[in-house]
Amino acid sequence: MTLQRLRICVVGAGIAGLACALAAARQGLAVQLVDEAAVPRNLPASIDVVPGMLRDLAALGVADDCVRVGFAYHGIDVLDRQGRRLFELPTARLAGPRWPAALGIAHGELHALLERAARRCGAELLRGDRVETIEANGGRARVALAGGLRLEADIVLLATGARSPLRATLFPAARPVEPLGQVWHYALVQRPQRLDRPLIAMGGPGHRAMLLPVQHGTAGIAVTEPASAPGSEPPVAQLRRALQVFAPAVSVLAAQLRDDTPVATRPVLSGVLDGPWHRGPVLAVGDGAHALPPHFGQAAAQSVEDARVLADLLAAPPDRDTLFRAFEQRRSARARQVHEIASTAARWDLQPDGAADLGQLMQRLMHTVAQPA
Ligand SMILES: Cc1cc2nc3c(=O)[nH]c(=O)nc-3n(C[C@H](O)[C@H](O)[C@H](O)COP(=O)(O)OP(=O)(O)OC[C@H]3O[C@@H](n4cnc5c(N)ncnc54)[C@H](O)[C@@H]3O)c2cc1C
Repeated sequence: MTLQRLRICVVGAGIAGLACALAAARQGLAVQLVDEAAVPRNLPASIDVVPGMLRDLAALGVADDCVRVGFAYHGIDVLDRQGRRLFELPTARLAGPRWPAALGIAHGELHALLERAARRCGAELLRGDRVETIEANGGRARVALAGGLRLEADIVLLATGARSPLRATLFPAARPVEPLGQVWHYALVQRPQRLDRPLIAMGGPGHRAMLLPVQHGTAGIAVTEPASAPGSEPPVAQLRRALQVFAPAVSVLAAQLRDDTPVATRPVLSGVLDGPWHRGPVLAVGDGAHALPPHFGQAAAQSVEDARVLADLLAAPPDRDTLFRAFEQRRSARARQVHEIASTAARWDLQPDGAADLGQLMQRLMHTVAQPA
């Protein structure tokens, strides 16, 4: 039996779900994508489309779309607390000569273009309804939505993120993802005129900022600091305060933040799903399989890599269980290696030790992801 005529249900329209829906729809499979959010995601944040991610987006046929709406760059400047340039983190041109090394892109733009591409390839999107249960029904899955709809699928891709109750129900033995004691604050600001590639600024132990151009007139600012007990300070005030510890090139951006500037804040979560990533007809992908600190842009990149591997496997599909095992074989060891590197970077943010060498860690990462998974 081949999977060519089979039906795929993707639960969750974040980067992982959208990219996987696109991958399956490009192979001509019948794809239904369900998300509980009524409207597409559009957070005031930037996504760093790092070289490996751009390579995988190119394989999914959307690199040109990304280049059109993003901001191409080569190399990343690292500044010390006084604003002096410490060194440059290189960016390899992994997508090939047609495309730049890397891109900054607005969170909403990336979600929107993946959604458009998936729809163009025939994926059907059901928004504003939550998947409540997924049950095996013979060899197939019965997917029950809160609104009463029932979907039948041969494969369910669970792309609901790391902390969804559905993931906890389907993988009851999985350890919960671990908060690393850091939060990130994100906002979109006016691009400083001379910012033509990202800069990472050190602000003392636990404090780091990344400024990433995403369009001609816009840049994303992402600032990490140690997590503190929840207080009543509004997110924009937290970001303004967090910016103060950096060199003027970064701290000056606080002046752009008005009380009504949208700011997203999230804790850094970490953990790779132990045990099989599949259960019956369900395969976990994205943050639900590997929650990575966003360091080096790897949380989003590894989600797109899931989609790229899936696309390869669906091009010559074996039976479902073989496909699930092959997916995990190609993804699990790699995700664990990247997780270890990104978590080390996250720990060093909080507590640099004698071995802390960001440049060397980046080299290790580049070596790990240099070839497609
Ligand atoms: C503000 C912000 C900034 C970020 N910046 C970066 C960055 O710079 N670099 C980086 O690498 N990563 C970044 N990330 C992380 C990155 O976006 C994720 O790693 C990536 O999107 C993969 O997540 P996902 O698709 O698996 O899950 P998510 O993005 O969490 O999406 C899960 C989706 O599932 C839906 N859902 C959940 N449960 C159900 C259900 N029962 N039924 C239906 N739908 C459901 C949710 O509505 C949601 O849309 C950022 C994340 C955020 C929030």
